[in-house]
Amino acid sequence: MTNLPNRTLLRDRFEQAIAYATRNNSLVALLFLDLDHFKQVNDTLGHDTGDHLLQAISSRLIRCLREVDSICRQGGDEFIIVMTDLKDNDAVIQITQKILQQLNEPFDIDGTQICTSFSIGISIYPEDSTHFEGLLNKADTAMYAAKKQGRNTFQFFSDDMSIISIERMNMEHDLRHALKNGELSLNYQPQYSIKNRQLVGAEALLRWTKSNGEQVPPAKFIPVAEETGLIVPIGDWVLQEACRQNKLWHDAELKLTVNVNVSAVQFKQGNMVESVRSALAISGLEPRYLELELSETTLMMDIDPVVKVMAKLKKLGVTFAIDDFGSGYSSLSYIKRFNIDKLKIDQSFVNDLSQGRQKDKAIVEAIILMGRTLRIEVLAEGVETKDQLDQLQQLGCKIVQGYYLNHPLSATEFEQEVLAVVKSRNQKKIRLIDAQGNFK
Ligand code: C2E
Ligand code: MG
Ligand code: MG
Repeated sequence: MTNLPNRTLLRDRFEQAIAYATRNNSLVALLFLDLDHFKQVNDTLGHDTGDHLLQAISSRLIRCLREVDSICRQGGDEFIIVMTDLKDNDAVIQITQKILQQLNEPFDIDGTQICTSFSIGISIYPEDSTHFEGLLNKADTAMYAAKKQGRNTFQFFSDDMSIISIERMNMEHDLRHALKNGELSLNYQPQYSIKNRQLVGAEALLRWTKSNGEQVPPAKFIPVAEETGLIVPIGDWVLQEACRQNKLWHDAELKLTVNVNVSAVQFKQGNMVESVRSALAISGLEPRYLELELSETTLMMDIDPVVKVMAKLKKLGVTFAIDDFGSGYSSLSYIKRFNIDKLKIDQSFVNDLSQGRQKDKAIVEAIILMGRTLRIEVLAEGVETKDQLDQLQQLGCKIVQGYYLNHPLSATEFEQEVLAVVKSRNQKKIRLIDAQGNFK
């Protein structure tokens, strides 16, 4: 389709290139190029447009290269380039930058303007390997590093990367077994209304304790779960477990809302509506006591499918919060379009309150005022000190969560530490539940 040579031919040219490089003491570079977000083009504009785009890209790539360089299409949206007769890495950088620049200019495909970008990984003969396959592997690893760096960029292979990729592979392997081995659990961090200091809800936070006792922080394993798609079954389990637990608390007459974090990948790859519906059905929890936390990136994805899924979920009766509000795009238009119930002010702003920074205080105040006007609840996350709590109260914030009030707690700790206190304060008859789910 692209009229580019295939991999066998490229391999031949590579062998010639290294023979030449050995004689002339020069370098050969192998570039692994992966088009960013090509699936989106195919999904939204159709496969014909996708094919035409790949053809246009091939022509542009060829124009960036020299006579002595070779290129092939590795399949899908991946290309491999072999550059030969190079003096040093600077020569590679120059050509690579030209490629990125050229491919960043919009394409006119069948009357539609399409902007693309590439992630490029580079390995060098003889430094990284003396074999084609070895270089290809390393360029591939470097390409993933480039993607991680935020795409539209290039990375040379380095040994650290292979250490990182081995660690990542191990983690992926372990994570696949974590769910079935019962290594995952949920902690619950209480959320309080400031005014009457009343417990109003809890955020469910995922914990992974390996069989050897090692605790892996969510910031480490959640990105791997997202990249591998494992977040879909894991996320389903989180929904079911959080609903099950909250229903037990409801049965004990504690009407809390449980907040569950939902990843963008669950929206893209999973069947969110079915997952939520079945978690509610199995547990018997009233839908209004389940709140889904979405990140700003989820809302910035392909807008229409997300709006549709959210509308269906809203119909079920669940509510939505935007997590870490203010740390990303903070677009006002999505607040309007997505029918959001709550904004969770990002911890960084709350943290800055205690540094006495007037600008940050003004931002927090603006978010609170905006919430009030739009009738959206505002919760401040990461409250660590009394001073922060007092300031938030002064600014009109109604709900808070943070270490000053409680750290995330296991279900048992939650019952012993939090519910017991609630019980003594309210003088209400609250039955507590033990770890096995029996009423005490
Ligand atoms: P998040 O949803 O913004 O959750 C709040 C994080 O802040 C939690 O970290 C919590 O332990 C921490 N935190 C709470 N109070 C304070 C405080 O006063 N000070 C500071 N410095 N930190 C505080 P954690 O549990 O490590 O989770 C990190 C992130 O991992 C979460 O951020 C969330 O984005 C993600 N995550 C956790 N559980 C799940 C899950 O079940 N599914 C998905 N998709 N993501 C999850
Ligand atoms: Mg959250
Ligand atoms: Mg947050």
